[in-house]
Amino acid sequence: MGQTFSTLAYLVASVLFIMALRGLSHPETSRQGNIFGMVGMGIAVVATLLKPGMGAGGIALVIAGIAVGGTIGAVVANRIQMTSLPQLVAAFHSLVGLAAVFVAAAAFYAPESFGIGHAGDIHGSSLVEMSLGLAIGAITFSGSVIAFAKLDGRMSGAPILFKGQHWLNLALGILMLVLVIAFVSSGSPLLFWLIAILAFALGFLLIIPIGGADMPVVVSMLNSYSGWAAAGIGFTIGNLLLIVTGALVGASGAILSYIMCKGMNRSIVNVLLGGFGTTGGGEAGPGAGGGDRAPVKAGSPEDAAYIMKNAQKIIVVPGYGMAVAQAQQVLREMGELLKKEGVEVTYAIHPVAGRMPGHMNVLLAEANVPYDDVKELEEINPEFAEADVAFVIGANDVTNPAAKTDKSSAIYGMPILDVERAKTVFFIKRGMASGYAGVDNELFFRPNTMMLFGDAKKVTQEIVQALQR
Ligand code: NAP
Repeated sequence: MGQTFSTLAYLVASVLFIMALRGLSHPETSRQGNIFGMVGMGIAVVATLLKPGMGAGGIALVIAGIAVGGTIGAVVANRIQMTSLPQLVAAFHSLVGLAAVFVAAAAFYAPESFGIGHAGDIHGSSLVEMSLGLAIGAITFSGSVIAFAKLDGRMSGAPILFKGQHWLNLALGILMLVLVIAFVSSGSPLLFWLIAILAFALGFLLIIPIGGADMPVVVSMLNSYSGWAAAGIGFTIGNLLLIVTGALVGASGAILSYIMCKGMNRSIVNVLLGGFGTTGGGEAGPGAGGGDRAPVKAGSPEDAAYIMKNAQKIIVVPGYGMAVAQAQQVLREMGELLKKEGVEVTYAIHPVAGRMPGHMNVLLAEANVPYDDVKELEEINPEFAEADVAFVIGANDVTNPAAKTDKSSAIYGMPILDVERAKTVFFIKRGMASGYAGVDNELFFRPNTMMLFGDAKKVTQEIVQALQR
């Protein structure tokens, strides 16, 4: 009876996880998706606690783990800024990887508790699953720690490259394969720990050559790895739910990485081999970075308010700077005031605007911008030619025409929002610094561009005040 109950409960939890992923695929259903995921996890935890043979000691340990981990998680998640989410996700993934290493070690030293044989005589198939979980888990751990350090500015985001790097990684990869085969045929503890050490080193070496700009893709790849590590461990301990959940995380992480690569027109191999990107954004102030180009035209919030009040169609392009400034609420207010003046206002979302997929959608949804006003790149691009104003707030790379014209540019081939086709383009940013990819944007120097220098929230507030006058 107990076993049937937990199997059924796990099945319900698995279905809820799938429904959660489905819900998360659209901003309108994402809250519901989150709730499905939370209920599924709740059911999974209760079913695990009620499993036959758990015992009071086991139940107390699980509850203590949830209390400690849950409290730390809740405090950290509550404190974290939206713009720091990628590094938080990287930090959390490192823990998933480490957990996989611990479970593999527990299964290796206490195989009886997992029903996979006896010490020194573990089933061959279990050794295979265990070594895969161990290796992928350890790579995920050290790789995620480096990704966290790079994203959080604790180490330079610049790619760390040295001669023969890819050959070294290839040689270590082959050595890993040899060690896994030797471990599976011998079950030796020494080989177990050698695999762990080598995998920790590989995780480190694989991530250091990857530049800051590619880090979000890498975090998503590591997310995928952590899922596969969990699935591997699920096989070891014979837990169906862990296999299903691990596979869901593994597959969705891989799909997300693919979507991000497509948004940047990069191949995943190109990302994983590293060497692209800089620490991001130069620090130049207003007026810098122009070289011998035409001077930039800077305007005031009052100028912008006047032009926008008299426009018929405005397309707002939010980017990373809007997230930094937390300007989404005041931006919505500005949009509402303009709509009252009879202006058509829509919001254009680039798939990789900001620092994580869906970043802009989440912020605009939080500010209650109507979903129907928010358009994806393919849908909105033809409309820029008819727009009176493209209002670019804290976006840069996603508008840079170098992606279309300059074959030598790091962002060449990335689809961009065609803001330059609007009659007037406003750029709200603090100075002339480049965006995350570190590429200059020649749009700032075009005659139909007006720069509105300042913090995105402050400038938009001033525009709102001017519109209200
Ligand atoms: P971006 O190119 O990084 O530009 C953001 C701009 O915002 C900067 O030029 C900065 O200029 C400005 N800014 C920063 N703080 C500001 C503030 N408080 N107020 C006003 N402006 C501020 O951003 P993006 O156009 O959104 O492009 C995203 C980039 O991230 C792309 O290169 C993309 O490939 C990369 N990326 C994104 C993802 C993803 O999933 N979304 C994943 C991987 C990589 P100032 O310093 O002059 O103010």
